[in-house]
Amino acid sequence: MKLTVTEDASVFEEIAGWIRDRDAHAEHHLALIDQAEAALAAGRRGDASSRELGERIERWRYQYLHEHAVELTWQDETLVDALDGLANRLAGRPSRPPRSTGRAIRDASLDTDSMREAIEMTDPCFPIERLIDRARSLTRRNFATAGTDETAVASSLPARHRMLVYAPLYVSNECVNYCTYCGFRYPLDIARRHLSCDEAMEQVRLLRGRGFRHVLVVGGDFPRLTTTGYYAEIIRAMVAEDVVPAVEIAPQTTQSYAALAAAGACGVTLYQETYDEGRYREYHERGPKSSYHWRLESHDRAAEGGMARLGLGVLLGLSDPRRDVPAMMRHGAYLRDRFPDRTLAFSLPRIHAAPDGFHVPFPVGDESLIRWYCALRVTFPRAELVLSTRESASLRNRLADICITQMSAGSSTAPGGYDEGEEHSGEQFPVSDHRSVAEVARWLDDNGFRAVWSLDKA
Ligand code: SF4
Repeated sequence: MKLTVTEDASVFEEIAGWIRDRDAHAEHHLALIDQAEAALAAGRRGDASSRELGERIERWRYQYLHEHAVELTWQDETLVDALDGLANRLAGRPSRPPRSTGRAIRDASLDTDSMREAIEMTDPCFPIERLIDRARSLTRRNFATAGTDETAVASSLPARHRMLVYAPLYVSNECVNYCTYCGFRYPLDIARRHLSCDEAMEQVRLLRGRGFRHVLVVGGDFPRLTTTGYYAEIIRAMVAEDVVPAVEIAPQTTQSYAALAAAGACGVTLYQETYDEGRYREYHERGPKSSYHWRLESHDRAAEGGMARLGLGVLLGLSDPRRDVPAMMRHGAYLRDRFPDRTLAFSLPRIHAAPDGFHVPFPVGDESLIRWYCALRVTFPRAELVLSTRESASLRNRLADICITQMSAGSSTAPGGYDEGEEHSGEQFPVSDHRSVAEVARWLDDNGFRAVWSLDKA
């Protein structure tokens, strides 16, 4: 057993010793490593059986993190890094430093000056108008386009920025997870619906008719139904309809992300919900989503799989935003440094309504929400900032004017929810901005924005 992490024989033996001490299935896992090393020695890197072996080692690594992450020793970190490198080699992917998202989100020494300054400006004592002015001018500088300027000149309106208008497409509200704050959670008695590819495409054509070309495919986590193949089929069909798809679905393996990117997905949106690992465990006590680190490293796997756009978010209300948003900023900075050719996007959804019995422990007011969005803009001047219809029309208009660059419109959060004239139940969360797509587009136009319907036309 060499673990191929280091050429130092004494360290090989030490690592084997740690596994025997710390792992209830040590002999099974040591045998797995021996198989892996035999495969690599035989030059079988990247073949089907090596990739499968790599996925088993990756699952073991996440299981190990799940069980030990609260108090990881340096030996544990050495082991998980070694397993990461081994799985990567077996998969035949290019060599890279070990994933270190968990370390990055805790490491305040990595904070940049602009991040520290932005966080200080979220203090209620700091004059909010100064923060807003700073965020607005950064947005206009980085997202102004020739089209925006021309529109402004022609209409004598102040130059604003380009705004991507997109739609979420909920394809399934079947879910095995037990997220205490979510209206889709198991076993709530809601109308469950899982769209076939044909049914999903009927929705896509309705959205296409309303002007959308950028559509975010959203689905619950139901392993038997919401498979990679299911999403890949929908994505391919959307591309054939000249629609640009992104996905907001359960975390996938690197191979699955690669398959979705190959099918035509332009990006992945995945919210950590909260970066506070203790609270995360409380909110996600059962189901696949209970694995904090599997979720935390999803963007690494998505980027390695070829996704061009990486969307992050925290669900405000679950934990203290003064800890959660800075952790997300560090996560973003880590991804930006590691994958400099990808587009980053951030979102700050707030809990407004939750299933009976869920008490929101950290309610966030409008002014605080504005401050945190501004802080994201100051820290990431070029990142996309995204806002859904969870928020009211007036607050969305205000945030759009300051820093938002992507907003949904005319949304439904129920599968099949775009059918005309039908009542729909089984929504994930209630929509607060009830304006039609045309009304949102008209507001953008009347106020000097340049609405775009896909980023390839931006
Ligand atoms: S938040 Fe997502 S994973 Fe959790 S219950 Fe809702 S749909 Fe399922």
